[in-house]
Amino acid sequence: MFLYDDAYLQYQFSPDHPFNPVRLSATRDLAENFGLLSPDDVIPPRPATIDELELAHSPHYVDLVRRISVTGKKTYGIERLGLGTEDNPVFRGMHEAAALAAGGTLTAAEKIVAQQTSRALNLAGGLHHAGHGHASGFCIYNDVVAAIRWLRRETGWRVLYVETDAHHGDGVQDAFYRDPEVFFVSLHESGAFLFPGTGHVDEIGEGAGLGTTVNVPLAPATDDASWLEAFQSVVPRVMERFQPDIVISQHGCDGHYWDPLADMCATTTFYAAVPRLLSQWVDAYGINRWIAVGGGGYQSLSVVPRVWTLLWAAVSRQDLQDRPISPDWLAAWEPQSPSRLPRHLMDEPEQFPPIRDRQRMVKANRDTLAALAQQFPEMRFGVSGKA
Ligand SMILES: [Zn+2]
Repeated sequence: MFLYDDAYLQYQFSPDHPFNPVRLSATRDLAENFGLLSPDDVIPPRPATIDELELAHSPHYVDLVRRISVTGKKTYGIERLGLGTEDNPVFRGMHEAAALAAGGTLTAAEKIVAQQTSRALNLAGGLHHAGHGHASGFCIYNDVVAAIRWLRRETGWRVLYVETDAHHGDGVQDAFYRDPEVFFVSLHESGAFLFPGTGHVDEIGEGAGLGTTVNVPLAPATDDASWLEAFQSVVPRVMERFQPDIVISQHGCDGHYWDPLADMCATTTFYAAVPRLLSQWVDAYGINRWIAVGGGGYQSLSVVPRVWTLLWAAVSRQDLQDRPISPDWLAAWEPQSPSRLPRHLMDEPEQFPPIRDRQRMVKANRDTLAALAQQFPEMRFGVSGKA
C-alpha cells in the first residue's frame, strides 16, 4: 500500500527551500516507470483530525499552526515555537498540508489494524523532529508520534521504531523516552557534528522506559559498509528481545554522499539493503506488520526517487535489479534538476571519491558499538540475526 495524493505537494515552505515535495511525485513516477507501482497500490491519505494531532502536540501549538495557516503570515513571538524561522517559514495552508502528511501515516496504521494490508509506505511522513509544542527541522506535525500513540490506544501493540535518517529523531525519542512499550532505535550522524545535536550513546530512556531507547551516533563520512554493520548489529537483536507487534521505520536518505545537508557517504547500496533487511526480519521474527515512512533527503531528483523506489520495492516484496532509468522519466524530470541526473537506479562506485581516513571512521563506529554493547549487556549486540 502506497499512500499518495497530489495534495502532498502543498507541503512546501518556499520555492527554494531544501525540503522539496517534488521528490514525492518524482518517486511515484519512477516506481511506476519501473513497473513496480500500479493504480491499485495507491491509496489516498486522509487528513489527521485535530484530536489525532493532539496525540502528538499540545492543543495550543495545533491551534497556533491553524491560525497562521490561514494568512500564511508570521505573528508575534511564534519563533519561540519554531515557526516563522529560516528552517520552518510560515506558509498559507501549512496546517492542511502538514495534517495530510500526518494523516498518511495514520491511514497506513488504520489499514493495518483493519487487516486490509500488512505493509504500507507513506513517503510524506517521517517528520521526526517536530516536538510536543514546537516545529523543528522542516517538521510541523510529527506523524510518527501521532500514529504510534493512535496504535497504542487502539490496539495496545508494542511498537519498534527504527530510523536511518542522517539526523537524530529527537521528536520521536522525546515522546516515548519513558514509555517501555515503544522501542526507539536511531542510527544517525553524531550530534557532535550535526543538527539536532542529540542522540548520544548514553540516551537510553528514563524511568519505566529505561533501556528502550538505543542511539548509534556515527562518525561523519560513514559509508555503506560501516553503517550497515551498525544496523545489522543492533536491529535484529532488538526485534528478538523486544518482540514488537509492529515495526515503523523512517527512511530519510540525507545520509547519501551527494546530500548537501549532512556529511555522510552512503550510496544506494546502503539504501537498498536497509529496507530489504527490514523486510526479511519483519517476516523472520514473526512481526508481520510494517509501516515505512520517508524523512529527510535533499537531492530531490538525483537521489531521493531512486532510493525510495528501492524502498517501495522492499515494502511491496518486489524484486528489483539495477536497470537503466527510462528516457521518459529523465525527459520529465531532468529539466527541473540543477544537475544531470543519474542514468541508473543504482549508484556506481566510481562516481564517488574514496573516503579519506576510512579506517579511522570505521574504528570510531566500532568503538561506538562497543560503548553501546556496554550500555545494553542483555541485548548482546553484534552482527547476527535471522535471515
Ligand atoms: Zn534528516
